[in-house]
Amino acid sequence: MSAQDKKHLPVLLPPTVPQGSLNADGSRSFVYPADVSGRFVTLRRVVFYALIALWAALPWIPVSGHPAIFVDVEHRKFFLFGSTFNSQDIWLMFFIITGTAFTLLYATAVAGRVWCGWACPQTVFLEGLYRPIERLTEGPREKRIKLDKAPWGLEKLLRRTVKHLLFLATSIFVAHVFVGYFVSLPRLWEMMRGNPGAHPEAFAWAASVTLILHGNFAWFREQLCLIICPYGRLQSVLVDTDSITIGYDELRGEPRGKAGTEGAGDCVDCKRCIVVCPTAIDIRHGMQLDCIGCTQCIDACDEVMDKIGRPRGLVRYDSLNGLAGKPKRFLRPRLYLYTALLVVGVVVATLAFRRHTEFEANLFRQPGLPYVMDGGQVRNSFTIHLVNKTNATETFLIEPEATAGATFVVPLARVELASFGSATAPVFVSMAAGSLHGDFPITVRIRRVGAADPSTAITVTAKFLGPSNATR
Ligand code: SF4
Ligand code: SF4
Repeated sequence: MSAQDKKHLPVLLPPTVPQGSLNADGSRSFVYPADVSGRFVTLRRVVFYALIALWAALPWIPVSGHPAIFVDVEHRKFFLFGSTFNSQDIWLMFFIITGTAFTLLYATAVAGRVWCGWACPQTVFLEGLYRPIERLTEGPREKRIKLDKAPWGLEKLLRRTVKHLLFLATSIFVAHVFVGYFVSLPRLWEMMRGNPGAHPEAFAWAASVTLILHGNFAWFREQLCLIICPYGRLQSVLVDTDSITIGYDELRGEPRGKAGTEGAGDCVDCKRCIVVCPTAIDIRHGMQLDCIGCTQCIDACDEVMDKIGRPRGLVRYDSLNGLAGKPKRFLRPRLYLYTALLVVGVVVATLAFRRHTEFEANLFRQPGLPYVMDGGQVRNSFTIHLVNKTNATETFLIEPEATAGATFVVPLARVELASFGSATAPVFVSMAAGSLHGDFPITVRIRRVGAADPSTAITVTAKFLGPSNATR
C-alpha cells in the first residue's frame, strides 16, 4: 500500500471510541456522548431553555381572550396571536408551510444545519431535558458505558428505574403541553382531574405522545435524525462551499501527532471531538450526513487547544472555502436568488393574510323563483349569510346602497353574533316593473359596529332580475 493510499485511510479507532452509530454488521452502536463545556455549549443551553420555556408558555399566554397559539380541533378554529382563523381559511396554511420550508432552506444555505443543532425539538428536548437527567442518574460517559455492560444488580436496577421514572415524568409533561395546544388549558386541567374514559381521544393522544417521546428520547435518539428525518439528506444540495458549517481545518491540523512531535500539525489525535459527538462521527473526515451541527466538537477541540497552548478554532464554524484556505464570500448568486424569492414570498403572504377578514359576509339569492310580481312591482329576495370570526360577540349592520328606483327592505338590519357565530338575514329589493330596463346590480354593505378601520367593511353585490332579464 502506497504512502498516499495510507494517508487517505479513515482513522482507525480503538473499540472504546466507535465511529458513527452503526457497527460494521449494520447493528446499532449505542452512542454515549461525553460531557463537554465551552462557549457554544453554554449558549446552546440558554437557547434550549428559552425555547422550552416559550413553547410551554404559549398555550398559557392570553392574546385577545385566547391562548397565543391554540388549534381548537373540536370547533375547527385556529387562534394565532390574536387572529382567528376557521376552516375556510385553511388555504392560508399553504403560506405557513411553504414559508417555513423556504426559511429552513435559506438558513441552511447560509449556515448549514443551524436548525438541527440549535432549534430542532429533537435536539432541544434531548439535550435540554433528557440528557441532563441521564447524566444525573447514571453519571458521565465512562460510567454509563460500564453500567450498560454490567450485569443486572441492585445499583443498575435502581439507577435505571430512577432514570426511566424521571424520563416518564418529563414525557408526561411534554405530552400534556403538546395536547394543551389542541384543547384549551382549563379543559385540559379538567380532563386531567377527571375520568380518562370521559375523554378517550385526548387521553389516547396524551398517552401515545408520552410513549413515543419516552421511546424516542430514551432509546431511539440520534437514529431519528439519521434514519427518519429527510432534512439531513438534503444537506448536500442545500449547502455550497461558501455556506458556514462546522468543519476541521485540515491544513492546520495535519499531519496529526502528539504535541511536540516534529512536523506534526495542531491535531494531537486525542479523539475528544469524537467522544463528545452525539452521533459519534469524526469531524476530521469532512462534512457528513450524520453531523447535526451541534458544535460540541468545537468546544471539545477548543478545550484541548487551550490545554496545549495552541490557538482555538482547529474545529470551527467556517465555510469549506475558508477551511481550504481559499477566499471566502458570503454574498453569492444562490443567496441573491433565495433573497429575491424570500421577498416575493413575504409580499405575497402579507397580501394573502391581509385578505383575512374579521367576519365573512355573502349574499345569496333565495331559492325558488328568481323574482315575483307583486302588483306593479318586481321583487327579488336575497339572504345575507354572516360569520363573526372575531374572539368576541359583535354587532353587524346591513346597509343597502341606494340604487335609483329600487326599494330595499332589511327586516334584520342589525345582527348580533357571538364569536364564530353565524346567522342569515333576508334582504328584499323591489322596483316598479315599468322602471326596469335590463339587469342591474344591487349592492349591500356590511360593517362591524365600532370597527376602527372603515375599510374592513364588506361589500356584496348581486344582480336584480325581472321579466325583461330573468332568463339571461
Ligand atoms: S461532528 Fe461535531 S457538530 Fe457534527 S454532530 Fe458531531 S459533535 Fe456535533
Ligand atoms: S479534539 Fe481537536 S485535537 Fe483532538 S482529535 Fe479532535 S480535532 Fe484533533
